[in-house]
This record gives sequence, C-alpha cells and structure tokens, in this order.
Amino acid sequence: MKKYCFGIDVGGTTVKCGLFTVDGEVLDKWEIETRTEDNGVNILPDVAATIKAKIDEKQLNAEEIAGVGIGVPGPVNDQGEVPVAVNLHWGFTPIEKELSKMTGLTVKAGNDANVAALGELWKGGGAGHHNMIMVTLGTGVGGGIIINDKVIAGSHGAGGEIGHAHVIDGMQEACNCGNHGCLEQVASATGIARLAREALAATDAPSVMREKENISAKTVFDAVKENDAIAIQVAEKFGSYLGKALATFSTVADPEIIVIGGGVSKAGPILLDYIIHPFKEYAFTPCKETTKFALATLGNDAGIFGAAKLVL
Ligand SMILES: [Zn+2]
Repeated sequence: MKKYCFGIDVGGTTVKCGLFTVDGEVLDKWEIETRTEDNGVNILPDVAATIKAKIDEKQLNAEEIAGVGIGVPGPVNDQGEVPVAVNLHWGFTPIEKELSKMTGLTVKAGNDANVAALGELWKGGGAGHHNMIMVTLGTGVGGGIIINDKVIAGSHGAGGEIGHAHVIDGMQEACNCGNHGCLEQVASATGIARLAREALAATDAPSVMREKENISAKTVFDAVKENDAIAIQVAEKFGSYLGKALATFSTVADPEIIVIGGGVSKAGPILLDYIIHPFKEYAFTPCKETTKFALATLGNDAGIFGAAKLVL
C-alpha cells in the first residue's frame, strides 16, 4: 500500500521539498540550493540525492512511496518535458523520465503556478472544491485554472497565464511579456505601486502615502485601512481591472471558487472586497451570487502540496 509521496517545488534560488502522507499530512519539510550553473545540469541529480537521503533517514520502504511530484518555473508538456526554463538555465529537459531514472520512483511534473493552484485546491483556500481559478498577485500576476480537479495547461502550457490578458488599450509601457496593457501591469504588486504613483502625481490632495519613500502594494493597502482617499481610489482601480477580468474568465472556466494568493494577498480580506464588487457587477448571472472568493492559505508551501498531489 502507498503511504507516502514527495512534493518538490523548484525555484530559481531554492528547491523546496516536502515528504507527505498520501492524505496530505506534511511529515517533513526542507530546502536545498538550486544550482543553476552549467545550464542547471545539477538540479535534477541534487533533487534525486535529497530524496534518497530522506528515504534513508526515515527508513522508508520504496514500495510504500507513491512517487515524486515536481513543479518547475516553466511550461511542462503532457509528456512531462520542459522545452525551456529560463530561470533554471534549462533547455529541453525530459524531467519525468530523467528524475524517474535517477530515483526509481514514479515522477509527475507540472508548471509551478499550476502546481501551486493544485495545492490550494487540495489543502488550502480552495479545499473542498473541484473547479477553481487561482490568481497569484506577486511581482507578476500568475494563475492556475482547475476544472474537475484537473489543471488546464492547454496546448502551449499557457492556460492560466491570466496576468497577460489584455485589459487596457493605449498603454505605452510594455509588459514583461512584450505586449502592452496586460492585467499584470495593473494588478501585480509592481502594477499597484505604479497606479499609486500615478494617482499621487495627478493631484495635490493630502495622502499618508506621500510620507513614504518607496510606495509598495503594502503601502497602498495599509493606507486603505487608514481610510486614505487616494489609496482607496487606487484599490478601486486595481479591483475594477481584476474583478472585471475574473468575471470574463468565469464565462470560460465557471469556477466554484476564486482563490487569491501571492504577496499582495497579505493585505487580507479587505483586498477581496475591492475585487468582488466589480466581479459581481460584470459576471454572468449564474456566477454573480454563487462564485465564492477566498484568500490562499498555504503561502510558499502551496507548491510542495500541489506537487505531492500531482503524483497521487
Ligand atoms: Zn504581459
């Protein structure tokens, strides 16, 4: 009987690792360095070595291990291969095949944002649901779409890349993807900070944000909690872009729940208020009242949870 599985989340600087029971209980959690030099040739052997060391340390029986799930920062095709992962300095890498050969275990690989969404669905903000849109508001805007418990990665692995949905016409500044007017440009932490700088430059009205040297998304939502008029205006603008975009995505994915994570979500439930109002205004009727919103709860552990779930 299978009792255990590993969840591995490969990032650009560290690899987060977790040993789980098949019911999703974390038995151990640790990190190793991501060695990206030499085109990242050491990454998979390092992962294999740390898994073997843990199996020895815990004296696990290989027969009881369901396998290894692994999330990586890049697209993963349905053969478990990565065409290219810039942050890992990888070219074409057949992860599932290679890591399976090195560990003797079943391996399932997925894109890190999609895997984190799966983690939130399994044990986080989306627990108990089967259809979910996950939005990660960090330096960029990431996403994951899950329908009937399956991550929808699409034919290019671009499914769920909701940060690059076009929401503003005529924007001069370019997005990291090269397009202009992406959701990421107004809904990421950097995007919210930009909206705040623009709002402050457009008026002489007083704001507690003017005293801050570096304006961040946290500055904005802290000021919102102090009832700062300009900060509220920025939060409304951010919420309007994101809420309307989510209303549009809901006509495609029809989620039971929309989970908001990433650094910006640390602002707490007040963040959801700004998104839900425009969502309800523009969502198609069946979604208006029944689609739920929640904050992500697993933080940086969403990746190892989701990776573990991949292999179960
Ligand atoms: Zn973009």
